[in-house]
Amino acid sequence: MSAQRHNRKSKESLLEMIKANFQDIPAPPSDKIIRHDCGECNELRDDLSKYGRLEVPPQVVTYHFADLPLLSPQARRYYLPSFLLHAIETENLGIIESLIFHLYTEDFDDVAGQRYCLTFTMEERSAICAFLDYVSSVYNDNWSKDDEYLTQASKTWCGRKPRWGKRGTF
Ligand SMILES: [Zn+2]
Repeated sequence: MSAQRHNRKSKESLLEMIKANFQDIPAPPSDKIIRHDCGECNELRDDLSKYGRLEVPPQVVTYHFADLPLLSPQARRYYLPSFLLHAIETENLGIIESLIFHLYTEDFDDVAGQRYCLTFTMEERSAICAFLDYVSSVYNDNWSKDDEYLTQASKTWCGRKPRWGKRGTF
C-alpha cells in the first residue's frame, strides 16, 4: 500500500472515529459557553452557539482556532470535535498547532489538567489520542516524534488507555 493511500484511508477513519466517539451531549446554555464577559469572548459565544457540536463551519473554526481556552470546560468538550474534524479536513497547520498546544497546556497544572482530561469519556480520549497519533505520522515534518508539545499531549491523552486497548503497545 502506498503511503498516500494509507494516509487517505487513515484520514477517513479518523474523521469517522471522531464523529462516532464524541458523545452526543446537549449544547451548553448560552450563559455557560464562555467564562468572561468581553467583546472577544462574546463574539466567540455568538459565533459558536449557532451550531451543533459537529457542525461549526470550517471558516468559523479557522477564525477562532486559538480561542478554545476562552470556552468553559463544558463548551470545550462540546465544540472540540468540530475543531478536530476541521484541523484534519482542511489540513490547516494553524488549527493543528493550536490544538496540540491546547491539549498540551492542559497538563501544565497536573490537577487541573487531569481534571479537564477526565471530563472526556474514554472513547473521547481515544479519539483525541488518535488525532495526536495521526498528526505525528502524517505531519512528522512539522511535529517529529520527540516534539515536546506533541509528546506531552500524547502522554496526557493516550496514557489512560482503556483496558480493551491493544496489549503491549506501550
Ligand atoms: Zn474575554
